[in-house]
Amino acid sequence: AEKYSDTETVIRELKREWNRQIKLPAPLIEKLTHASVRGQHFWQEARRQDDFKIFQPALEEIIGLKQQEADALEFTTCRYDALLEEYEPYETTSNVRIILEGLRDELVPFVHTIMGCEKTPENAFLTKHYPIGDQKRLGRQVAETLGFDFSRGRLDTTVHPFCSSLAPHDTRITTRYDAYRFPTAFFGILHEAGHGIYEQGLRADWYGLPPGETISLGIHESQSRLWENQVGRSLDFWKYHFSLLQSYFPTVLERVSLDCFYAAINDVRPSLIRVEADEATYNLHILIRFELEQAMLNGDLAVRDLPEAWNRKYQDDLGICPQNVAEGVLQDIHWSSGAIGYFPTYALGNVYSAQFFGHATEDLGGCGTDFSEGQFEPLRSWLKQNIHLTGKCYSARELVHRITGKELSHTYLVDYLKNKLSPLYNLS
Ligand code: ZN
Repeated sequence: AEKYSDTETVIRELKREWNRQIKLPAPLIEKLTHASVRGQHFWQEARRQDDFKIFQPALEEIIGLKQQEADALEFTTCRYDALLEEYEPYETTSNVRIILEGLRDELVPFVHTIMGCEKTPENAFLTKHYPIGDQKRLGRQVAETLGFDFSRGRLDTTVHPFCSSLAPHDTRITTRYDAYRFPTAFFGILHEAGHGIYEQGLRADWYGLPPGETISLGIHESQSRLWENQVGRSLDFWKYHFSLLQSYFPTVLERVSLDCFYAAINDVRPSLIRVEADEATYNLHILIRFELEQAMLNGDLAVRDLPEAWNRKYQDDLGICPQNVAEGVLQDIHWSSGAIGYFPTYALGNVYSAQFFGHATEDLGGCGTDFSEGQFEPLRSWLKQNIHLTGKCYSARELVHRITGKELSHTYLVDYLKNKLSPLYNLS
C-alpha cells in the first residue's frame, strides 16, 4: 500500500507492535507485572515513612528486569532506546538528549537571571479560599468554551488527574480540587481537556486501529500543554476570561488586576515538585529524571546511590535541595510501576507544542484576537485538521516536519518562554 495511507499505517504499526511483543518472553512479562505491583506498594509505604530503603529492593528488582527487557528487545545503540520506543515510537535517546540539553543550556541561565530580579509577582491571592463548587462550574464552563465536547465526554473528580477514552464517543477527563490553591484544578482541567480534545478529534471510523489512534505520549502531551500553557496562561485568554473568573470569586479577586493575575500564574520559581513546576523550570525536572534513569539502566548508578544523585542534580540545575525523599526522589510513581523511558515524553510534549503553536499562529494570522474574544474554534480546527485526524499515519518527528516544514527543535520553546516571561521580570 502507498506509504502513509490508512492501509499502510495499519500494517506498519501492527507489525511494529507485533515485532516488539514477540521478542519478550512470557516469564519476563510475568515477573515485570509482579514487580511493578510490588514496586507501587513499597513506593507508597516508603513515601509514607519517608524512608527510601523501604523502596530500594523493589526498585533494584525493577531496574534489573527492565535491563533484561531492553536486552530482549535487541537495541542497536543503547538500552534506553528500547524502552523509550514504547512511549515515543521512532524516537532515539541521542536525539532526545540533544533537545533536553539544548533546553538546559538556555533555561538554566534564564531562570537564574529571573531569580536575580528584584521584581517578584504578588501571588498570595492564588492560595485564598476558592469554593470547590464554584471551581467545578467554572472549570466545566471553560473546558466547554475551549471545545471539549460534553455530549461525548465527562469531567469528574479524582486523586490523580487523567484522561481516558472508553469508546470513540466516550472520553472521560478528571481533576482534583484544592479549595486553597486555585491553579491546581483550573490548569489541571485545561490540561486534561487538551488531552480530551485530541481523543475526541480522532477518526471514529478507525477506532481501535492505528489511523484512529494517537501518535505517542509526547504528541498527546503537546495537545494538553498547548491548551494549558500557550492558550490558558496567555494574556489574551485572560483578557476574555478574567471578568468571568472575578464573577465566580468576587471576594478574593475584586481588587486584583488582570496584569497582576497574569503575572502570578506565570511566576517562575525553582521548586521541588515536578507537577507543580512553572513552564520554565518544568523541563529541568525532566532532564534530571532522564539522566538518572539512563544511569541506572546502564549500570552506572546503583539504586542505593539514587537519592544522593537526585539531590545533587537538583542542587546543580535548580539550586535547591529536597529535605526529604517524599519531596525528592520518591515524588513520582513512574519508576515504581516499571515506567522507565516515560519522563522525556513530558518535555517533548512541551517542545512539540511550542513548535506547533508557533506555526498555527502563523497559519491563522495570529490567535490573540480570537482568544481575547473567546474564539477557540479556529485553533481547535487547525489542531484537528493537522494533527488529530492524521492518527498514527506519521511518526511524531515526521508530523512536526510535515506541519511546520522544519525539524523538531527546542528553540521554539525557548523563544516562546523568553518572549513571554522577560517582560514580566523587566528583562530586555
Ligand atoms: Zn498530560
